[in-house]
Amino acid sequence: MYGRGVKYREMPDWALSSELHRIVDMKKNLVARHISWIALTFCVVLLLVSGYVVLNAFFQNRQNEINNLLDHGRKLATAFDHELSIQAMSLEILAAEANSVVAGDKIPANVTSDDLVYNANHQGYELVLPRGKSRNVYGGLTGLGELPEPESALAKEVDMALSLSPTFEQVILNNNSLPWVYYTSASRFIYMYPWVSSQVFFYSDILLETEFFTIATPKNDPERTIVWSPPYDDQAGAGRMVTLSKPIYDGDRFLGVISIDILISDLQWLLDKFAPNQATAHLVGLEGECIVSEGDEKFSVDPLLLQHETMLDVDRKTLMVFALTETNWHLVFEIDHSTIEMDAINASTNEIVVFLFVVFGVLLIFLIYQNMRNARFMAMHDTLTGMQNRRSFDELTLDTLQKRDPSDEYLGAAIIDIDLFKNYNDFYGHLAGDEALRRVANAIKNGLRSSADQVFRVGGEEFIALFSLASPEDLPQIMDRLIKEVSDLGIPHAGSPFNHVTISAGGISARLDELKSVEEAYSRADKALFVAKESGRNRWVIQ
Ligand code: GH3
Ligand code: MG
Ligand code: MG
Repeated sequence: MYGRGVKYREMPDWALSSELHRIVDMKKNLVARHISWIALTFCVVLLLVSGYVVLNAFFQNRQNEINNLLDHGRKLATAFDHELSIQAMSLEILAAEANSVVAGDKIPANVTSDDLVYNANHQGYELVLPRGKSRNVYGGLTGLGELPEPESALAKEVDMALSLSPTFEQVILNNNSLPWVYYTSASRFIYMYPWVSSQVFFYSDILLETEFFTIATPKNDPERTIVWSPPYDDQAGAGRMVTLSKPIYDGDRFLGVISIDILISDLQWLLDKFAPNQATAHLVGLEGECIVSEGDEKFSVDPLLLQHETMLDVDRKTLMVFALTETNWHLVFEIDHSTIEMDAINASTNEIVVFLFVVFGVLLIFLIYQNMRNARFMAMHDTLTGMQNRRSFDELTLDTLQKRDPSDEYLGAAIIDIDLFKNYNDFYGHLAGDEALRRVANAIKNGLRSSADQVFRVGGEEFIALFSLASPEDLPQIMDRLIKEVSDLGIPHAGSPFNHVTISAGGISARLDELKSVEEAYSRADKALFVAKESGRNRWVIQ
């Protein structure tokens, strides 16, 4: 078959080696493809594993951090309990003594209600120590009303209170930070140790309405246990304090309340010294109000959140709550989320460094891979026309051609050569030749219609185009189009009988499953091209 040319047919003799090459090429491709998949899978697995290691370390360290804080909190709560239990124990001892005196088991002290004198200024009475008795041993007793009648219930109660003096002294001596120990009577007197002058402090009925007393009255403390007051400011100026109180009864008759004051500053040092760095520690009362705080004194917690031991998130902070056993107070650690997270990150530094190395390594592998792809692309393409080059063509296999469009059973191949191009260069110079070559290459590209078609620059001014054909009948039309596309460029060519740049093309078509190799197609098309040139150029010949 031919166009503007002659029919030419000659059967080629195919060397066995081309078939061997084809098989080797296929294998090379297969290995190359698999290597990149293996590398990619390896990188992804490496990233996933090291990412998992980092996350695992982070969460593990975070949990450790939380566990350490919980442990710390439990210990600190125990320390508070210990501190408070000493005072509670002292109070229990005092109450036991008072009860035994009330029950008549104990001999009253040698300073008694007989030593009270009337104080007209206060319309009450006070204790005046007999000569030889020391203020180190006895506190101050003041009361309202007439002097108690000898042998009266009031006189017995005063005697009971005074009999506590040695223990009062011991309690204060053992705990020199305790401001006061005192017995407040519902019968309107107070006995307090250490001694305070009656000019500075005299019993007043306000005391019976003050919390240290009211918390222990029969109504508020029917169980007669030790009760704790909320924090308050001491009237005598000793500072902010809380009071432990326990009621004293004579049978069913409520007599009064023994109290021990604890200065808040005495609890503060425990917080300041033993609270963890990562948290701000607070001691809160039953209502969630702040008793002692390492930071904000106005801190408070919803009392509903106070449980035995709990950890909760409030306002982007973590609260760890520890219950004290000695009283219904709670120790609260207030921790910024970021603190725990940052500590966990710091503790995971090794894993993070390894992870970063892995990321860096994988990135490097990808960069190298990308560079190799670029290098390969450059090795496979022609810089002048941007087309695939001879090497690309040489690597082509029938296998890849068959996969392009399985519905097309035929391969069409055309070798295209610019006519009398040497003359063109001679006439117009090499640079103009390059430009013409580029334009011709573009025109050939435009002549391809199917995406499955390919064109390669296989020689100086020589191209090979491969077409996917449904039928061999389609090829002449394509060849016509290619010749026309170039001719239509109208690039002047004074050295050509056609006066403009033209091409000649030799084509073949063959069933893909009958072709032995790409080279076979090439060789047959080359022969057809030869015929096209021989028979006058600017034409195509299909063998
Ligand atoms: P024919 O019609 O028989 O093909 O004649 P021809 O002159 O085209 O054939 P020949 O093989 O004698 O010369 C090919 C010329 O193509 C030689 C060379 O000057 C030119 N050529 C090849 N590659 C390039 C190139 O990249 N740029 C330029 N400007 N010219 C090239
Ligand atoms: Mg030529
Ligand atoms: Mg040539």
